[in-house]
Amino acid sequence: MAKNSGHWSQGLLASMNDTNAVVDSDDTVVIIKDKYPKALFHFLVMPRQKIPYLKSVTTNDLALLEYIQKKGEEIAQRANTELKFRFGYHAVPSMSHLHMHVISQDFNSPCLKTKKHWNSFTTEYFVDSKDVIQQIKLKGIFSPDIHEMNELLKRDLRCHVCNKGFSTISSLKAHIVMHDVTVLRDS
Ligand code: AMP
Ligand code: ZN
Repeated sequence: MAKNSGHWSQGLLASMNDTNAVVDSDDTVVIIKDKYPKALFHFLVMPRQKIPYLKSVTTNDLALLEYIQKKGEEIAQRANTELKFRFGYHAVPSMSHLHMHVISQDFNSPCLKTKKHWNSFTTEYFVDSKDVIQQIKLKGIFSPDIHEMNELLKRDLRCHVCNKGFSTISSLKAHIVMHDVTVLRDS
C-alpha cells in the first residue's frame, strides 16, 4: 500500500471508486459528489491521470484542464439549468488529487459551517478554472502566494451577492437565502 494512502487527505481517490459517489466518468475524468457539499449542487471533477495538486500542473496539461472545465459545465447543466454555478479550484487545496469544484451559488447547505468554508468559496481563494488556465498559459505554472491566500480565509464575512458584512455565519446564511441566484432572473 502506498505511503499515506489511508490518510484523510487521500479520501478523494477512494471516492473515485465509490459507485455511490460517482455521477459520471469517462476515460479521462471521474466526477463525484462532494462528500460534504457546501451548496445544493457540489461536484468535483478529477482526472484519472495521477496529478496530486494544481501546482504539479504544467503547460502539457492545458488540454486536460480545458476538458475538466468542459465536463464540469456539462454536469452543472445536467444537474440544474437555472442556478448559477462556478467552476474552479481552491488556491491551496486540502485534499490530494487534482479536483475542480463545480458549485452552485446558493451555498444552501448544512455542511457550510465556518468562516473558512465561506471564504474558501467566495474570496479570491476560489480561482475560476478559466483564470487558472490563463495563468498557466502565461507563467507555465499556477503559483499563488500561500500566505496571502491563507489570510483570505480569515477575512470578515461578506455576502457574495451584495457584499453586506456579517458577524456570524448563521446570520450570513439567513441572509443569502433571500438572494436570487438563478441565471434566468438576475443575470
Ligand atoms: P479542497 O481540497 O479545499 O479543494 O476541497 C476538498 C473538497 O473535498 C471539500 O469540498 C470536501 O468537502 C471534499 N471531500 C473531503 N473528503 C471527501 C471524500 N472522501 N469524498 C468526496 N469529497 C470529499
Ligand atoms: Zn447579500
